[in-house]
Amino acid sequence: MIWTLMSALQWSSDFLKTKGSETPRVDAEWLLCSVLGFRRVELYTNFDRPLNENERERYRNFIRRRASGEPVAYILGEKSFAGYDFEVTSAVLIPRPETELLVEHVTDAIQARLLTDPVRQIRVLDAGTGSGCIAISIAKWWQRKMKDRESESPNHGLVIDAWDISEDALKVASANAVRHGTGEMVRFSKVDMLDPASYSRADGWDFVVSNPPYIGDEEFSALAVGVKDFEPRLALWGHPDGLYFYRQLAEFARLVTRAHGKIFLEIGYEQGDLVKSLLESHGWASVRVELDYARHPRNVIAVNPS
Ligand code: GLN
Repeated sequence: MIWTLMSALQWSSDFLKTKGSETPRVDAEWLLCSVLGFRRVELYTNFDRPLNENERERYRNFIRRRASGEPVAYILGEKSFAGYDFEVTSAVLIPRPETELLVEHVTDAIQARLLTDPVRQIRVLDAGTGSGCIAISIAKWWQRKMKDRESESPNHGLVIDAWDISEDALKVASANAVRHGTGEMVRFSKVDMLDPASYSRADGWDFVVSNPPYIGDEEFSALAVGVKDFEPRLALWGHPDGLYFYRQLAEFARLVTRAHGKIFLEIGYEQGDLVKSLLESHGWASVRVELDYARHPRNVIAVNPS
């Protein structure tokens, strides 16, 4: 039998469906595109094209991996976020669309700061950078913005410190920074933000942003296989109650942000009230909880009053 694109897609999406994928057809299409080096639309104009032996073998291997629950992003080795493709490996969390909202809140704040103080350098810390998606997207936003304002008065720029405890994650993040040409703007370092010694690196950041691990024990066991068995536990687990990193960040960021600096946190959608009161008990002001596309609480933003 000759396998055409159409028959391969049909067979593999039926198969992935029986294996519990919620998006079997789309998964099959992305994986086939990767094997063939196609864009999605090219599949549709080549439905009758036969697959050769080598392509079939590589595709079968991809489908096998997907059937075992491995996320498509790890198989492809990349994931799109905020309009850019990020390299991902099993050392980093796969960037989520919700996290793009966190980036937007930060860029809004940078924009506002530029209006009130156009000359001072703006400093941002991305605590737990993983793939680097947050830090790099902010840098890309800045580059686009500065291109538009070439004729306006110069400013002293933006610097983003991106920390992670995992060396393997930092390798991925640095590769992404090279890929997207963010140069000196994003500075990666291996730092354990929970180690008090890291406080001495405090640099007076305007904005601290973090999408920390926030899954507690109870939720962990209920996670989908693709997450639980494939994404790094280090990036997911927020200790038994899921709030450990918020406690640490609430304290740490109060000490290291400039007066009127802000903190931006992604949260699990049931953690809004808890994280809000946690920040308030650490002296943060104007604490607000923002919703995501599904209208779930997803970001908490607060101001350091002093
Ligand atoms: N900052 C990265 C992201 O948002 C990694 C977050 C994490 O590993 N918890 O995807």
